[in-house]
Amino acid sequence: MTSRQGFLGAGSDAIFADAQIGVVGLGGGGSHIVQQLAHIGISHLRLFDPDSIDPEGTNLNRLVGATATDVRVGTPKTAIAARLVLGINPSADLVLVQKPWQESIGILRNCDVIVGCVDTFRGRQELERAARRFHIPYIDIGMDVHAFGDDYLLTGQVFLSLPGDKCMTCFGLLREDLLALEASRYGAAGIRQQVIWPNGVLASTAVGLVIRLLAPWSPQAIGPVLLEYDGNRGTVVESTRMGALKDYPCSHFQAYDDIGDPFWTLSLTQPIKGDHHETK
Ligand SMILES: [Zn+2]
Repeated sequence: MTSRQGFLGAGSDAIFADAQIGVVGLGGGGSHIVQQLAHIGISHLRLFDPDSIDPEGTNLNRLVGATATDVRVGTPKTAIAARLVLGINPSADLVLVQKPWQESIGILRNCDVIVGCVDTFRGRQELERAARRFHIPYIDIGMDVHAFGDDYLLTGQVFLSLPGDKCMTCFGLLREDLLALEASRYGAAGIRQQVIWPNGVLASTAVGLVIRLLAPWSPQAIGPVLLEYDGNRGTVVESTRMGALKDYPCSHFQAYDDIGDPFWTLSLTQPIKGDHHETK
């Protein structure tokens, strides 16, 4: 195959073909991301979502790859994503997890990068914790619609969380009051209407970070990145919090089992990081 990604570096095609990316949550954000990763040439995808498409058809306005037939038969979101990927790359190596990711932790921990597209603060906190424990970069996307009388503010953010560096709590993306409020509302915090165009902006921004991690074509050093989306203005800018927190180390992952995986073992039967393409 001729190289399609010249400016990303000579070896980028091979890097993308070897990389194993986990996408948790295959709704409005995750489905966009999966589509882009397939087009880029990421062959090994680990796709997590316990849900099927909503029979009322409310997902159709934002779920990339979904059809009216899927609504009628209630297709699992993992199956919709798989069909999308295999239509682009028939030889893709897919692992579909149609249950909570926590029940397939062994699949998650072999990923090179995890992208989280979940819609609760609690879910994002658990994913970041798992990613830190397994020493895996975690990219989180989130979007909110805030109502002010008759007006709406459309905001979102993309965060790259690197093990050993500043986390979502450092940046105020996870706060005790948000977690407590969410728990008191049984998980339905605020207005989280996901719509396809802001999802597309956030998803593309997240995929840009995946590419920077795998094929660092930009001279800018990679560190924790918080990019803020203003849907009303149509802008994505680096958060001012990045500068404000520059000299503050993360104090939230200090315990013995916060970083590092105590159950990680070398085994001939267990695929290990870096060797997963040999074992598919
Ligand atoms: Zn922190």
